[in-house]
Amino acid sequence: MNRLPAFTISQPQSVAEASEMLASLGDSGRLYAGGTELLATMKEGALLYDTLVDVKTVPGLADIRVQDGELWIGAAVTHFSIETSPIVRELLPVLSYVESRVANTRVRATGTLVGNLCFAEPHSDPATMLLCLDARVVAQSTRGERQLTIDEFFVGAYETALEEDEVVTSVVVPLPPANWRMAYKKFQIIERPTLGLGVVLELNDGGDSVATARAAVGCVSESPLRSSAAEAQLAGPLESLLERLDAAGDSLADEADLLDDREGSAEYKRHLIKVFLKRAVQQALQSDGPSR
Ligand SMILES: Cc1cc2nc3c(=O)[nH]c(=O)nc-3n(C[C@H](O)[C@H](O)[C@H](O)COP(=O)(O)OP(=O)(O)OC[C@H]3O[C@@H](n4cnc5c(N)ncnc54)[C@H](O)[C@@H]3O)c2cc1C
Repeated sequence: MNRLPAFTISQPQSVAEASEMLASLGDSGRLYAGGTELLATMKEGALLYDTLVDVKTVPGLADIRVQDGELWIGAAVTHFSIETSPIVRELLPVLSYVESRVANTRVRATGTLVGNLCFAEPHSDPATMLLCLDARVVAQSTRGERQLTIDEFFVGAYETALEEDEVVTSVVVPLPPANWRMAYKKFQIIERPTLGLGVVLELNDGGDSVATARAAVGCVSESPLRSSAAEAQLAGPLESLLERLDAAGDSLADEADLLDDREGSAEYKRHLIKVFLKRAVQQALQSDGPSR
């Protein structure tokens, strides 16, 4: 059995201090939150760091709050805390649901949403739904703060747009108006999701037509993605929506540039996307408000 190599833990008391530590440590140091990815990877010997900088000791990063119509989730907030947060359950139940489906109880209790995003493992549930919800990632260093869309944040598999000394402090999610309907569906064969699929539908005033739609698929490419063609096909009268779903599913699958791998063939994944898009749309429309 592999042994975890020895390392030092540094405990910064501010984001600026954490950023300075990262800058001076360079390749020998790394930020650490729940450690569910990092420690496992170090144990396997795939990554080695002399020093881990514990983001959980920085005050102010463990909160979930609402500000100017947006949900702010701090970098030290675990999946479980998001899943069970009364604020999230009331204002953004779809995110509470997504979090309830991540991994297992042990990982959810320790692992953070921000750690999930920063590791950029392609099989991420929250990344897909956050893309669909137009969420942003807030990154801070001694040079200042910047916000990145989910699309900008993910550069590829296991790769983000973060600079070496940047600390993600929060994820920001705009809260949905009452006429939005949303759902997330996942399908899993092995340990991580095989497919994640999110939809957000904005209904018109009469409630009989989709004014605008968003659809995102994850886990089938290096990073989650949306398809403007699929979103255009989903918009339109509800009475003919079912007839448009097949084409929208194909558009989403085309955008994903599917590959054969251990999760299944490209053809199988195309089939899954079409089945789960239909299920997500049906579930979104069954609710009477922004739902899971
Ligand atoms: C058995 C297992 C099953 C899983 N199943 C699923 C699943 O079904 N769905 C799913 O979506 N995910 C799944 N995951 C992934 C899980 O969600 C992540 O392991 C967890 O969220 C990582 O969070 P962490 O706090 O432990 O991150 P850590 O392991 O502490 O860190 C991960 C990475 O993020 C970086 N980092 C952490 N915090 C910051 C920060 N504030 N700023 C910049 N960089 C930072 C670290 O440097 C490191 O590179 C699974 C994981 C395991 C181990």
